[in-house]
Amino acid sequence: MIGSSVVFRTRSWIVLCLGLLTLGTPAAFAADCPGHPDALGTSRTLVVDPREHPRIGTMQYRETLPLRDHEVVLTFDDGPLPKYSNQILKMLDDECIKATFFIIGGQAKANPEGVRKLVAAGHTVGTHSMNHPLTFDRMPIEKYEPEINGGIQWTSAAMTDPAKQLAPFFRIPGLMRAEGVENYLISRGIQVWSADFPADDWRHVSPDRVYQLAIQRLEAKGKGILLLHDIQPRTVAALPKIIRDLKARGYRIVHVVPATADLPATPTAAVEWLLHPPTETTPIARWPAVPNFVFAQSTMLPAPALADLNAQTEHQPVLPRRTRAQLDVASTLPVPGHDLFAIPEGSIEVLLSTTLSRRAATRLAMAAETPRAAKGKSGSIKAGKSRASRTAHAAHGTPKHAGQAKGTTPRPTRVATSVKKRA
Ligand SMILES: [Zn+2]
Repeated sequence: MIGSSVVFRTRSWIVLCLGLLTLGTPAAFAADCPGHPDALGTSRTLVVDPREHPRIGTMQYRETLPLRDHEVVLTFDDGPLPKYSNQILKMLDDECIKATFFIIGGQAKANPEGVRKLVAAGHTVGTHSMNHPLTFDRMPIEKYEPEINGGIQWTSAAMTDPAKQLAPFFRIPGLMRAEGVENYLISRGIQVWSADFPADDWRHVSPDRVYQLAIQRLEAKGKGILLLHDIQPRTVAALPKIIRDLKARGYRIVHVVPATADLPATPTAAVEWLLHPPTETTPIARWPAVPNFVFAQSTMLPAPALADLNAQTEHQPVLPRRTRAQLDVASTLPVPGHDLFAIPEGSIEVLLSTTLSRRAATRLAMAAETPRAAKGKSGSIKAGKSRASRTAHAAHGTPKHAGQAKGTTPRPTRVATSVKKRA
């Protein structure tokens, strides 16, 4: 809700604009900016209904303001802080630019005159919490509710007619959005404002960098809501250059105000609330719709019979099917003979040679044979040999290679087929 004085000003502005300015020539705006023939001006006023489009700004949301190409909305957060806010205000006044300010309750409490100046200059005034905590994304309602209310209370306290002068617009500090916070605001008819691009003017960058980022990001999107801070000296330093460049590049400023009972929302189509509505170059919007088939016949097909499943049903149910093991297929295969796993005497070297170099295998084999020769086939040696055999077998599986003596070629042994051991 905006003050009646503001509404009337806005309306006279609209009347003026409709008659003279909607042709879109920036030069025409200068006529309405006495003493500043070169002013950028404000091209039009957009009236929005927060209840119809509760979240705006493509930095975080699907929708944004229904701006036309090369239209810009300037927003300033965190004020008012007299030292810098007054300079910003003067620059905007000189250019006849109307912007939107998101006030911190604590700043309004300390500098209520700053809020009154904004209202008097015809800017839109929304709020930005009481103390600007950067924890809205994780605060319970007991914490964020008083933050929201404190900002509204102290900004209202600075106004002569807050019911009409305070816009139901809120920007979450640091854009630390959360579903609960948004739903709370929306339930109160307050529009949640993100932005389409910032200029990083809260960072330790030069004014020139702020200017560059503002223009580069605007050029990338072609239109949108620019987020700035009227408490930053670098913003004060960058703003004149931003404004000059906006004008040089043919951008136009749009002033946004909330709809009231007396001031209906500007008529818009839903698609205009998307930054880039579907076009010829977005194929997904061009897929043909699924035809709405109407079937002439509606008779149902018969249920399939068991015989249609081609299943053996005489001695077993169709489901569950018997597994391969259950069908006892394995028992029909021949059982492997026990000598398949036997390692003939003196074959260690051959076995080892499959994994080691020939020289290393020979050395190991000799080491194994020597104590056996000395001890005469003691049990420990046998155990060692059979261990080696097992290892070799485990490593290489089948077929087994068996060489009878050093240097012989391994050859496969015959596979026996008649041992009942594993039946
Ligand atoms: Zn802020």
